[in-house]
Amino acid sequence: MKKNQYSLFNNIAFYFKKLSEFQPSIIWILALRVILSVTLPLFTIYMPKLLVDLATSHAGVEKFVLIFGGFSVAYILLSAIVSYTWEAVYFDFNFFRQYLAYYIFRKSLSIPYKDTESGIHRGEYWGAIGQAQCGDMSSSNRFYMMVPSFLITILNFFIYSTILANLNIFIAILLIVISMINYFFMEIERKSRKKIQPKLDNLYKKIEYIQHSSSGSGESSPAKDIRIFHLSKWIKQKEQKLIDKEKKYHKHLMGINFTRQNIGFILGFIRDGIAYVYLVNQAVVGNITPGDFVLYLGAIHGFSDFVSSIAWNIQELLTASDRAQSYRKYYDMQEEDIIQGTVTADDMKYPLDIEFKDVCFRYDDKKDVLKNLSFHIHGGEKIAIVGVNGAGKTTIVKLLCGFYEPDKGEILINGININQFAKRDLYKLFSTVFQENRIFPFTVGENLTFQLKENIDKKRAENALKEAGLWKKLKRQKITLDDYMTKYFMKEGVTFSGGEMQRFILARAIYKDAPLLILDEPTAALDPIAESEIYNKYAEISREKTSIFISHRLASTSFSDKILFLKDGTITEKGTHEELIKRNGEYAHMFQVQASYYRKGDMQNDNRFNK
Ligand code: ADP
Repeated sequence: MKKNQYSLFNNIAFYFKKLSEFQPSIIWILALRVILSVTLPLFTIYMPKLLVDLATSHAGVEKFVLIFGGFSVAYILLSAIVSYTWEAVYFDFNFFRQYLAYYIFRKSLSIPYKDTESGIHRGEYWGAIGQAQCGDMSSSNRFYMMVPSFLITILNFFIYSTILANLNIFIAILLIVISMINYFFMEIERKSRKKIQPKLDNLYKKIEYIQHSSSGSGESSPAKDIRIFHLSKWIKQKEQKLIDKEKKYHKHLMGINFTRQNIGFILGFIRDGIAYVYLVNQAVVGNITPGDFVLYLGAIHGFSDFVSSIAWNIQELLTASDRAQSYRKYYDMQEEDIIQGTVTADDMKYPLDIEFKDVCFRYDDKKDVLKNLSFHIHGGEKIAIVGVNGAGKTTIVKLLCGFYEPDKGEILINGININQFAKRDLYKLFSTVFQENRIFPFTVGENLTFQLKENIDKKRAENALKEAGLWKKLKRQKITLDDYMTKYFMKEGVTFSGGEMQRFILARAIYKDAPLLILDEPTAALDPIAESEIYNKYAEISREKTSIFISHRLASTSFSDKILFLKDGTITEKGTHEELIKRNGEYAHMFQVQASYYRKGDMQNDNRFNK
């Protein structure tokens, strides 16, 4: 079994430190709760003895009522305060638990890019946020409830031991030993739970994914496929299989829990039986008074309860500590350093000059994705990088944006290695348009500018939409910057066609007005006419800027100054469209194949369309 990275004490210190930073008064309220909770049980064991002593000493009714009344009032008052202290903090625990989950979400926005592409990261994210969200079973709530409870039981344990040691030290030892045996079985149960929990977490992650992505509650719903491909049956079967597995694990855990509880019951029966027989015997032979008998009876009962509680508390704390590992791991994850670096965006002269010098890169140990790649884009040049899928085009963009570092060689912007830039400033240099672009279910203005409504420069936003050729449509349909996009939050939310969406994303790039425009397969989902319109727009807005067009569709190359043909991570051909066609190499071949699909006759002659 994997050893925990953070110890129990380290986790307790972590969660309580965070809580005290969030709400310092909670710690004092919890301390008060501990003190009062230790005092209360003393009433319950001393009150019966007092009453019996008063009865047997024939005390007057007045004295009896006074003492009994005094004790009762004090007891009720203390109980009320204990219950109030609980109410006062429980709400904060839950609020803070949400806050701990928010922290994980916020952290996910600033982790290094390469971690976001790894499946491991997604698993760790769900592990951390999932456990923070699971109510009283979350480690934070467990710790906040169990640490005070543990202190209360430990203090009570000492008080009760002192009382019982007066009666018979062996009885006290017997109670402890039997409880320790019980603890041993509890530990077996915890270890089984710890072994199964990651498997359960993994199942929850899958079930949650299936439900979220298929129900239409997520961003995109497979509603069409559900109908056409009878997807619902397949989804239900997939979900059912996972649920069946979950049931199997739960059944296994329930079985262990049931056995452990029965053993605990039998041990408790033996333990109390021996103690009570001894006590009755002491009373019968006259070694203890009736008052003491009542006192010890309460003490044995309480002591057994406390010893069991200690074992249970330790188990709960250890389980909370097991569950805390995934949270702590994500919490401590290294964030992307966006400040470190000596070169800033203000140091740059425009248009930007870009150079890749002998760049090699691989994602993992499997194969080189870029091999000794060298090219130079002079300031203001528009280049197209073309090549088949998987050639390494997007990888070039990821390296240029600083998302990954080359294994060998260097990438220069205006002659400066991009490693020397503060990442924050490096990111300022790029406006990017990708095929997949995220639209949030918020307003048109917010989606365009990524600013809160009150900070949007409306004039600039309007100009960007005009330049992207979208303004007239918005005016015609009476869509304003304040209208919501998508139907996710608002049923009257705005939706755009594929071409309009590309224009909108282009407007986003225009609004940002960065000196380097990168277009990575932006028109892959568009028809040829919409594609051609969009390319004309790109040509217009990139007039003064250095720009990189990435595509496997060669229509993009007509207005590029230079074309780089990429194959298996290496540039195999370089030149203008005319030069490469003349060369009659792979570019020319690819161009001819693609062009043939746009020619009417060729479409009909293509065997694939005649089948
Ligand atoms: P292109 O943009 O030309 O289609 P990419 O740059 O996306 O090609 O991918 C180049 C190669 O790198 C492909 O073989 C792809 O499978 C691989 N690749 C891309 N991203 C990753 C990643 N995050 N981890 C591992 N391999 C990747």
